[in-house]
Amino acid sequence: MRYISTRGGIQPVSFSEAVMMGLASDGGLLLPEVLPRVDRSMISSWAALDYQSLAVEIISLFSHDIPAQTLKYLVEKSYAGFDVPEVTPVIQRGGLYILELFHGPTLAFKDVALQFLGNLFSHLLSEQGSYMNILGATSGDTGSAAIYGVKGKKNINIFILHPHGRVSRMQALQMTTVPDRNCFNLSIKGTFDDCQAIVKSIFNDLDFKERYRLGAINSINWARVLAQVVYYVYAALKLRAGGLGKVCFSVPTGNFGDIFAGFVAKALVGPIIHRLILATNENNILTRFVVEGVYEKGQVVQTISPSMDIQVASNFERYLYYLFGQDAERVSDAMADFDRSGIIRFSAHEKEKAMSDFSSYTINQAETVATIGDFYRETGYVCDPHTAVGVAAARRFMAEKGQDKVHVPVVCLATAHPCKFPEAVEDATGQPPAVPERMRGLEKLPQRCEVMPVDEQRIKSYIESRGL
Ligand SMILES: *Cc1c(COP(=O)(O)O)cnc(C)c1O
Repeated sequence: MRYISTRGGIQPVSFSEAVMMGLASDGGLLLPEVLPRVDRSMISSWAALDYQSLAVEIISLFSHDIPAQTLKYLVEKSYAGFDVPEVTPVIQRGGLYILELFHGPTLAFKDVALQFLGNLFSHLLSEQGSYMNILGATSGDTGSAAIYGVKGKKNINIFILHPHGRVSRMQALQMTTVPDRNCFNLSIKGTFDDCQAIVKSIFNDLDFKERYRLGAINSINWARVLAQVVYYVYAALKLRAGGLGKVCFSVPTGNFGDIFAGFVAKALVGPIIHRLILATNENNILTRFVVEGVYEKGQVVQTISPSMDIQVASNFERYLYYLFGQDAERVSDAMADFDRSGIIRFSAHEKEKAMSDFSSYTINQAETVATIGDFYRETGYVCDPHTAVGVAAARRFMAEKGQDKVHVPVVCLATAHPCKFPEAVEDATGQPPAVPERMRGLEKLPQRCEVMPVDEQRIKSYIESRGL
């Protein structure tokens, strides 16, 4: 399996090269040359597998240059730290299924991919006798999941910038209480945008980037998408084993990474995945794309589901490649146009195709809060605000679908544990969410964090003195 760029400007590369490359050197995103598809007998043979074994089966279809034994080791190591043996359990509540993706070390779904990516990076680097300094900015969740993905790894140091006093207390503690010497938290006296601008500017200093072998851990890395394909297939097989046939998935969406993994899963297993429901909050560029056939940047609105407060979805270009019939030149032109004008318009035919791939709904803040409260009162289950956006979208979809009387179960992806958003949850349910064992007592642990002004030079010097 070789990888190409959505913009067509690179020679095909191997899986390992694609992982190390992150972003393609022509500015595009990497994709497998062909999306693999498995037949029914293969799918049936997967039904009895546990999560880790299924992950090995699926990932190996995309990663021919990683030996099976190595992959098995990496997968097992990645999911050993999850607090339930099923890794991503599916439960039934209120006429819906909930796929709980928050049982990893930082209680957010990003752990599923970043635990694997951290181990994969470390393996590939040690094979090459190399090293990496990861540099990233976070407004909350990605930073902690990334730190937990690479903490303690000898050939990787990680530097995460967060805006001082502007991430939640719990999110800050999750990052700063990690004792490993290869993890560095920089608390920047500015906004998230300041942090991101500094990171971008440092990456643009190609000399510096080369010297410190700077690596990124953002959601455009193909290995992250790939690791997420697994739980779609896992959940679909679990419900099929219960005799339910096809399933739909409702996905709270920001950067389009998670739902794109669903798209790849659907290509892989065919009609057992019936429909993907793309759920957005008020930052609904993607819903407007599906419903109106126009992809147009708006202003970012702050909501109670902050990990979805995104206007330009970094993985969207991967879907564009398929929507444009794998025409890399068109993708390239459309992205250049978008950079200039902030808008891409689609033909009637493309709009129809998008609507056949996704159903999409925008759920505003009031509806999100109401959904958390209603779902809790009806079922006793507490959703975090991101999950609630997906649950509300699923309910709208089912209300519409009722007309054609097809009963297809809907699986809602639960992307964060409710204790990560205690204020919103307490507002909606009247109760503070329960806090799992691994989150308790963090405030009593020593914290490691450097407070710094918005000053790129100071941050570079810091990396120079502590980088590998
Ligand atoms: C990142 C995140 C999302 C959005 O996922 P994308 O892959 O960016 O679409 C949803 N919910 C939570 C809790 C997240 O952290």
